[in-house]
Amino acid sequence: MTALSNNAGSAITAGAPVDVIVSEVGPRDGLQSIAQTVDLDTKKRWIAAEADAGVREIEVGSFVNYKLLPQMSDTAELVKFAAGIDGLTVAVLVPNLRGAEAAIEAGAHKISIPVSASETHSLKNVRRTHAQMIDEVAQIRQRINTIDEAKRPYFEAGIATAFGCTIEGPVPVDKVVELAVQLIEAGAEEVGLSDTTGYANPRMIRDRIRAVHGAVGKDKLNGVHLHNTRGLGLANAAAALNEGMTTLDASLAGLGGCPFAPGASGNIVTEDLVFMLESMGLSTGIDLSKLVQVRSVLSDSIPDEPLYGFIPDAGTPLGWDGSRVNAP
Ligand code: ZN
Repeated sequence: MTALSNNAGSAITAGAPVDVIVSEVGPRDGLQSIAQTVDLDTKKRWIAAEADAGVREIEVGSFVNYKLLPQMSDTAELVKFAAGIDGLTVAVLVPNLRGAEAAIEAGAHKISIPVSASETHSLKNVRRTHAQMIDEVAQIRQRINTIDEAKRPYFEAGIATAFGCTIEGPVPVDKVVELAVQLIEAGAEEVGLSDTTGYANPRMIRDRIRAVHGAVGKDKLNGVHLHNTRGLGLANAAAALNEGMTTLDASLAGLGGCPFAPGASGNIVTEDLVFMLESMGLSTGIDLSKLVQVRSVLSDSIPDEPLYGFIPDAGTPLGWDGSRVNAP
């Protein structure tokens, strides 16, 4: 429950406690993987509508080189807008200290830096070695420590390609564990495991979470970031829940894709994930029917983009009232 207890200064306590935080990453992960551009007003409507449906945490964008990713050029404005929404944790992704500076300036509650377990992937993605990335994390920690303690953003390092890499292939579990230890030592409050490439399976999820927990402590790994590239997204989410994960990333309509797998869907679908969790008796604070309605923001603004999800198509089962009727 890290995001709930450590997000000093955030209004997250305004809502009732939840069992699992569903972190919506569509405005960042989804949009950065599609060609069509979404304007600022549409993004604001999307974020506001999801917050209104009860979503507690949204990754609104990333502070990257806008020449490479023009889709993310309005992140600062989005952070300021989203920070005004009561009870919402505003998360952003940053690749380096410079991005972290911009995130702090804009008032983000949570800052995540992706560090790839595959060094080849890291070099290709951000042109940095592991040593350079760890140094970047240490510098961001130093910068955050200059801020008044009550106003500090929460700082997480997401271990990308933690389950395999499209360039290197298999990524040894020892590499992931070693990196997790180094990132915590460098000053990240927490690490997350990201299945960037959609290579994970439930057994790997279990084994890697356990290995990292064993090395850095259970309180230092509470969340996973999953893709549904090969259809195992929700199975992996269930395996992650079994290992005590309390934050699961997802994207509305599974927006996005995978640059390495044409036609593949993006992150796990927020709507389907919420359905699974609530059906299992785990509260998310999210109103599923309201959440499904938010899809119209996407279908209106990016009509050519495929929208994924089983629940929006099939509906909920007869007798399912959205309040955990099937709970054991
Ligand atoms: Zn992703």
